[in-house]
Amino acid sequence: MSILTVDDIHTYYGQSHVLHGVSLDIESGESVALLGRNGAGKTTTLRSILGMTPPREGEITFKGEPIDGLEPYQIARRGIGIVPEERRVFPELTVGDNIDVVMDDDGEWSKDRVYDVFPALREHQDQLGGQLSGGQQQMLTIARALVTDPDLLLLDEPSEGLAPNIVADLKSLLSDVLDTGITVLLTEQNTEFAFDLAERAYILSKGDVAWRGDIETLQESDDVIGKYLSVG
Ligand code: ATP
Repeated sequence: MSILTVDDIHTYYGQSHVLHGVSLDIESGESVALLGRNGAGKTTTLRSILGMTPPREGEITFKGEPIDGLEPYQIARRGIGIVPEERRVFPELTVGDNIDVVMDDDGEWSKDRVYDVFPALREHQDQLGGQLSGGQQQMLTIARALVTDPDLLLLDEPSEGLAPNIVADLKSLLSDVLDTGITVLLTEQNTEFAFDLAERAYILSKGDVAWRGDIETLQESDDVIGKYLSVG
């Protein structure tokens, strides 16, 4: 069953026409990657879904209902969580308090459950958010999104700016999160990271979907990778 359908959206920044008819379809329980070079429109697609930069044309349906025209907080309340590109933790609050302030007490993710997935957060639960390393802040940002109990989790370039060994750790932790059956749409420049986590991919180029298919097919498609993903 589709949980999210993005149908032919056109999104602008002022006069600048950035998304030219993007369509996506995500099934419940899937992990899907949104790939493409810098400036292809990945973040703008997430911002369109979240109502932060609402599309001027097209339709977005979440759990069977249109969400176009809703405010970002209303869309979040319907069950879409975001891990934004710029990590979002309160530097002056402890790790535990960072989680508590967004926690949905009736949700499926208790504090203990996120600590089980991210043991480093349990270990540093009394430390201030601002004292964490970049990788730990990314984990806390993901934990904060999970405890809001989203039905769909959007992750914008989770591996960006992290050292290779931290990226490997994060990949393994995120893989544990995905094993819980949560539905995920993640953007990445790091194709290896996306290849290991996602089942399916959409590739954006110049604000439109240039390719869609299974990750396994994509991994074997050197021409597609060369045309739309490789740097340089
Ligand atoms: P990146 O990896 O750089 O985030 P991306 O695929 O997420 O790339 P977007 O950030 O969606 O790409 O950008 C798509 C296009 O929209 C780019 O040409 C970018 O310059 C433009 N753009 C992004 N944000 C704005 C903005 N606030 N105002 C005007 N143009 C913007």
